[in-house]
Amino acid sequence: METDCNNKEYGIETICQLSDKSIADKWGALSFPIYQSASFAHRGLGESTGFDYTRMQNPTRQQLEYVVASLEHGIDALAFTSGMAAISTLMELFKPGDHIIVDSDLYGGSVRLFDAINKKNGLEFTSAELYKGGYETLFKDNTKAVYIETPTNPMMNVTDIEELANVAKKKGALLIVDNTFLSPYFQNPLDLGADIVIHSGTKFLGGHHDTIGGFIVVKDKELDDKLRFIFKTTGAGLSPFDSFLILRGIRTLSVRMEKAQENALCIAEYLKSNKYVTRVIYPGLPEHPGYEISKKQARGFGAMITFEVKTREIAQALLKYVELIYFAESLGGTETLITYPITQTHADVPKDILDKNGINDRTLRLSVGIESVKDLIADFEQAFEKASV
Ligand code: PLP
Repeated sequence: METDCNNKEYGIETICQLSDKSIADKWGALSFPIYQSASFAHRGLGESTGFDYTRMQNPTRQQLEYVVASLEHGIDALAFTSGMAAISTLMELFKPGDHIIVDSDLYGGSVRLFDAINKKNGLEFTSAELYKGGYETLFKDNTKAVYIETPTNPMMNVTDIEELANVAKKKGALLIVDNTFLSPYFQNPLDLGADIVIHSGTKFLGGHHDTIGGFIVVKDKELDDKLRFIFKTTGAGLSPFDSFLILRGIRTLSVRMEKAQENALCIAEYLKSNKYVTRVIYPGLPEHPGYEISKKQARGFGAMITFEVKTREIAQALLKYVELIYFAESLGGTETLITYPITQTHADVPKDILDKNGINDRTLRLSVGIESVKDLIADFEQAFEKASV
């Protein structure tokens, strides 16, 4: 499946509703059907319908891939069983002895993959605070890629994608951007010079905390061919049913992102005014160091907030006393979630890196949902009151 990129002409809200005309349902179903079939019959030798075996291609997955590629302005998107399956497959592009520069603040699962699996297979990593710039000195003769999130998980650091892409290009390295936190609704790294975009589709794309998925999006045919080969060989393609769920989630991406962001801004302001909160990190606050870069490279600031409270006791009690807000891992759904990175998402990140990034036992991460914001603030108020006694 390849998009022609002409979909850039459509507004993003429209792209969320697009369908791949080459696989249109002959009955005119508005909701793309779930093709729950492992295999597809051939009409004769050399007469494939384009679908042979679901590990390789499936119509429901192809429809989803079409929409995601269109949203990210790529030529192709590959849908995986999870964000981690997408990142693991991506790492198969590299061979022993290749060097990759990675941001020091990343989702803990990505750090675990690089440290525990990819290093064992001979890849070399340099971890650096890329939002600070000064990239040039990090490149070596064997540097093949730079891997970032922006904003980062959980410290919300913002890297200038275009600036970094220019340096990576000059050095002959790929720029890979995990765009999970902003979603393609707010940011399109390929347009800013990145070569590969990654998503945990579990998050804002799916949007309902009801399925797990992941994506790789590319804009180059040669890279796409290599990745499609790895995809069909390693076999972590998303199931038809999960493809359907993420497709359905994407239909409301625009309204969810707008409402969640509106709520996030109010909550960031509320947290700033709370006497038990010592630090609020949200790129939509003008005092955030990445505020101006965010305005330049993204269409919004998203719905993720990290904050720090006065004591570990308050942090841990808050998790117990929230009622409307869920104490749960993950992000990007309609419900607001509060996460404790040191024991959840970042539990496997080495202590020295956590310290360097400023993640401690007072750090909490919030994925703001689309509830009534006054109810969310009231929930915080009652939880802080109980947590602080
Ligand atoms: N990238 C980011 C930024 C994430 O936050 C996550 C998961 O939280 C992943 C990738 C991995 O995605 P998944 O949980 O779908 O495997």
